[in-house]
Amino acid sequence: MTETVIAAKDVGRVYPSDSGDVHALREINFEVERGEFVALRGRSGSGKTTLLNCLGGLDSPSSGVIWIQGVDIATMEEVERTRWRRESIGFVFQQMGLLPSFSAYENLDVMARLGNVPRRERRDRILDTLERMGLKDYYDHRPYEMSGGQQQRIAIARALVTKPDLILADEPSSELDSETTHKVLAVLQESVRKDGVSILLSSHDPIVDEYADRIINLRDGQIDGAMAAKPNAL
Ligand code: ADP
Ligand code: MG
Repeated sequence: MTETVIAAKDVGRVYPSDSGDVHALREINFEVERGEFVALRGRSGSGKTTLLNCLGGLDSPSSGVIWIQGVDIATMEEVERTRWRRESIGFVFQQMGLLPSFSAYENLDVMARLGNVPRRERRDRILDTLERMGLKDYYDHRPYEMSGGQQQRIAIARALVTKPDLILADEPSSELDSETTHKVLAVLQESVRKDGVSILLSSHDPIVDEYADRIINLRDGQIDGAMAAKPNAL
């Protein structure tokens, strides 16, 4: 039986402005199932970040409803929403948000603690996640001692360490060369296949199409050719 992890119905987001309202999202309708890897494609300004922020409860839509695992997130109390976000969602932001004075290990440890990863599992989980991202040797390095691409992989590792139900990733491969992009996407795909994680990942890089089960194209805040199937899966 399929389980719907994300359901968006008629979602719109308007940013008011003096020179006229900006419709960042209009009538967005789609679903993501458990264990599905969905790529959100679209050029700059198409609404990818706005949509991911709304889905993660960091921003609120101006209209429409978002259900995550069957719960209308607009009805959640703030405390509940924060706990849900930390335990069930892994975020990879464009601005990464790594703690600058903490090592790679400590950056993951903070997230593991906030996400209530059991104490006795934490260390192994952190080291294993760093290893999967090819960063085992960098566990004691601070973000400024690493390249942009390594920092981006720390940000992805941090999203994986809590074993979330859902990963929302905003252009997580923008700092990676194509070889590293392939490696990182393969790790994410493995989480989908093995652990039943659902992933919604935005990108304008066509490499992601090789790993995604489905591609959603955003254009000017609207879904273009909604629910398009992956061509080579047909
Ligand atoms: P993408 O992530 O695909 O580049 P965004 O979601 O960042 O797209 O932006 C979608 C549209 O909304 C763009 O036209 C952008 O200029 C506008 N926008 C985004 N954030 C804001 C904001 N805080 N205030 C006003 N307009 C915004
Ligand atoms: Mg963006």
